[in-house]
Amino acid sequence: MRLVLVGPPGAGKGTQAAILSEKLGVPHISTGDLFRANIGEGTPLGIEAKSYIDAGNLVPDDVTVRMVESRLAEDDAKNGFLLDGFPRTVGQADELERLLGNLGTTLDAVVQFDVSEDVVVERMLARGRADDTEEVIRNRMHVYDNETAPLLDHYSDKIVKIAAEGTVEEINDRTMAELNKLK
Ligand code: ADP
Repeated sequence: MRLVLVGPPGAGKGTQAAILSEKLGVPHISTGDLFRANIGEGTPLGIEAKSYIDAGNLVPDDVTVRMVESRLAEDDAKNGFLLDGFPRTVGQADELERLLGNLGTTLDAVVQFDVSEDVVVERMLARGRADDTEEVIRNRMHVYDNETAPLLDHYSDKIVKIAAEGTVEEINDRTMAELNKLK
């Protein structure tokens, strides 16, 4: 399966992606995780991305797309993947379509995690990541509304909407039930 997960920051995409990846047998590709790994290793890409991430802004599309392109070229992504946090702009979605077109394939579905703003703020403050201060969280939400939410229209024919409140297990059950309907 080739899936994209979309939802506001703190929607629990990463948590669900880790479980789904195991159940579906496809790699979990998180652009946030890839950036954080590059920052940790001090690579040129990490150094370039850090200031954007620390402020809660998007890393420029060209940098992000190149990183995803090389990750999708790895062997384990040949038969499917779960993209978590990418695409985050309509421009990135167009680039993804181009990349997949070159590989002769398309997305199976776009899973939208639907959750209220109160719940996401609560979850993010609990997780305490470096970019999870209140001011940066607020900016990430603003960026989501402006840059990423338009993807929901862009992908309207592929969206599978999941109510993302409740326990991790409940949300996973709902997601698996919806994905099983696609088969
Ligand atoms: P969250 O879902 O909580 O926003 P992520 O780990 O997905 O956390 O992303 C953290 C940060 O990494 C984002 O705020 C952004 O700066 C950067 N980032 C992640 N994915 C992308 C992307 N597709 N395009 C641009 N920047 C990205």
